Amino acid sequence: MPTLKPGVVSGDDYLTLLQAAKDGDYALPAVNVVGTDSVNAVLEAAAVAGSDVIVQLSNGGAQFYAGKGMPDAGAAKVLGAVSAAQHVHLLAEHYGVCVVLHTDHANRELIPWVEELLTHGEQHFERTGKPLYSSHMLDLSADPIDFNLEQCARILTRMTKIGMSLEIELGVTGGEEDGVGHDVEEGADSSHLYTQPEDVLQAWEKLSPIGHFSVAASFGNVHGVYKPGNVKLRPEILKNSQALVHQKAGTKHAMPLDLVFHGGSGSEVAKIKEAVGYGVFKMNIDTDTQFAFAKPVGDYVKANLAAFEHQLDPESGKPYKKQYDPRAWLRKGQQGMIARLQESFEVLGSKGRSLAKG
Ligand SMILES: [Zn+2]
Repeated sequence: MPTLKPGVVSGDDYLTLLQAAKDGDYALPAVNVVGTDSVNAVLEAAAVAGSDVIVQLSNGGAQFYAGKGMPDAGAAKVLGAVSAAQHVHLLAEHYGVCVVLHTDHANRELIPWVEELLTHGEQHFERTGKPLYSSHMLDLSADPIDFNLEQCARILTRMTKIGMSLEIELGVTGGEEDGVGHDVEEGADSSHLYTQPEDVLQAWEKLSPIGHFSVAASFGNVHGVYKPGNVKLRPEILKNSQALVHQKAGTKHAMPLDLVFHGGSGSEVAKIKEAVGYGVFKMNIDTDTQFAFAKPVGDYVKANLAAFEHQLDPESGKPYKKQYDPRAWLRKGQQGMIARLQESFEVLGSKGRSLAKG
């Protein structure tokens, strides 16, 4: 088993990390974060599990990280993502695990967001020899595939120079993630929710000569948690895509594609494991960890209601400072998220398999 230094990984180390996951038949959770509370919870969860982990920011999460009230929302989306990455670069190694830094869905309107982040990434590379992020995502799945792949090729050319990878999306993940996405209609034809293996082959032919990319393939996965039975998960689409690329492009590896599972929240364990067996190395999780953070905070507020209405007990005059101190209830949220992530590490098979040494 290869080993890596703890901390943020990028470039060849990132490829080592994801190849180890594929070879070892496990995947890493990519957890959406919105501030230091959730970032630190993810790092702590990974340290507890002895697993490597992926810290991920959506454009909205990045904006929140910089502050919802920052007058220039566009600048906040860039600077929040930069700030979060700097925070992770500083702390990750002290948690003793390897951490991948990723951004989430960027549709056509958000291409400039990714490009501005790349400018910061290039500056970071000049200073430290490492990019700021390990990988960005471009989700142009709503556009024609030729446009999608043209833009991906253009951006990947720039990223490759600083040791970065690109996650692309082919086919449509149902639901929405921070305003980027598609409605899931009850009973509607859902063929558009499934990636065509021929499209994956086209992406391989265009992008693999340029640099490293991963594919968010759609196999019936949906963002958010909905009532069951709406869309069927068909992981065999991933298997078929791997087989087609292996056969047509004559790749050395039988599973040449590095696949990403979006909308992992609420998915059946058996289907998750099947998808991991077909080359999924990253599974995004947001909805379930949001709820895992919120639930214990709600329980705490209910159990300490007076402390959220009065600074002093109206009868005894006893101070409630210890109860309403944000550290008391934010920690409950963190603990909920940390506990929920242990389940993810377990299901994805990454528990106890961190590559970090030293
Ligand atoms: Zn997604």
